[in-house]
Parts: sequence; structure tokens; C-alpha cells
Amino acid sequence: MIDVCISYGFGEGNRFQQETIPDKIQLAIWKYDVFMELKDDAVKALNEHGTDVKVVHLPLDTLRQSLDDIDRLIDFCICRIGCRRFVVHPNKNITPFIDHFIERWGYSDLAQLLIETFGWRTHKALRGPLEILEVCIANPELAMVIDTSHIEELWFDHRIMPTLLKYTPVIHLSNRAKGHGSHMPFNSADGELKLVGFVRDLKHRYNWNGDIVLEYMPEHKDKLMKNKKYIERLLA
Ligand SMILES: [Zn+2]
Repeated sequence: MIDVCISYGFGEGNRFQQETIPDKIQLAIWKYDVFMELKDDAVKALNEHGTDVKVVHLPLDTLRQSLDDIDRLIDFCICRIGCRRFVVHPNKNITPFIDHFIERWGYSDLAQLLIETFGWRTHKALRGPLEILEVCIANPELAMVIDTSHIEELWFDHRIMPTLLKYTPVIHLSNRAKGHGSHMPFNSADGELKLVGFVRDLKHRYNWNGDIVLEYMPEHKDKLMKNKKYIERLLA
């Protein structure tokens, strides 16, 4: 079964705010310090709405914090938010972070680290899906997040995608177009990617089970809940 949710965050500077807190979310943590200030209020709000946090997106500055600080954040999310999956971007210092994470959590069911894909041209420390795949194959406790806005079109080839999906429990779904940037609505008329077909393929061609997270830029935030419902209908 494929579950669909939206990315949602708390606090100033967060791209993913909505008027009401949805029932299921990816909790997008923008900056470490900002979240640590408001974390108790966030838990209170999530509890009041009965929100299910399917995955936590670690702060963008995760790999610039001390490992102790990130441990504190992960512990908080496990104990107080009840979420065990953590997405990180493969920036500089990702390798020592992975080693630390495995040492602390490896082979336990309490926490899983998911590494997000970026395009080759962005020069991340793990470039493109294949370098992440290599790390996941070497460390079965790790997994990948495919972000459709970030990866090149060639990866959507139906001869390659099944291999990527084997290591992918979460997909960040959004479209992109030259002149419009990325993280546009998945079914946008200007979008370069054929994501309506891709969503249907996830179920019918690839038999994939996992979570789809809609990650849109703020100017498209009014489309998030509508698109979530649309995708649920596509997958019904
Ligand atoms: Zn993403």
C-alpha cells in the first residue's frame, strides 16, 4: 500500500507551512536551532491534531552540527514524536555521519537513516542515486529517498527504476521546468516530468510499497492537499 502525505514544518523561515496541520506529514525541520527552540510546542500541536509523522526531514544544517546535538534531536523525535525514519541530504561530512548513525542505531529498529538523491551537477558528497545505492547496499540499515525534482530524467527509465525503488521507502514528489525551477506541483502543465504516469507505475508496474511525500515551493502550497487527494485517487 502506498501512503501519501505532505511536507510540513514549524517556525519562521520554514517553507512548508499550512493553515491547519494535516493528519499525516513529513516533519520538515528547517534549522537545528529554530526547531530546538519550538520543539515542545510542535509536539503539543501535533498531538492536538493527532498527526502521524511518517518521516522526519533532518535540518539542512545537520552536517554542520555536532554529532551530540543531532543525537539529541533524533532521540527527541523517536521518544516524543514517535517517528523513526530520518532523511538527510548527502552533503560534506555525510560519511562520518553515516558511520556514527550506524554505530548508534545500526541493527536496531529504532531509527533508520534515509539519504536523499540530488542531481549529478549539484556536486553533493554522494553524487546521484548510484553512489547512494552503493552505500545502501553496503549498509542494509540505510535507505534512499528519491526526490523526483532533483534527479535527471534518465533515472525514470523503466529498466532502471525498479533497482532504485528496491532501496527507496520514501519518494519526494514534485515536478520541475526550465524557467520555473523545481518543487512544482507533480501534475503541473509546464512540468518536464510525466509524474501522473509515474505515480500509476509505482503501483501497477513496479508494485512499490512506500510513502509519497509532496514537497512543493511555498507559492504552490494551496495545491498540496488537493494533489494529495488526487494521488490517492490515482492509486485507488
Ligand atoms: Zn526532497
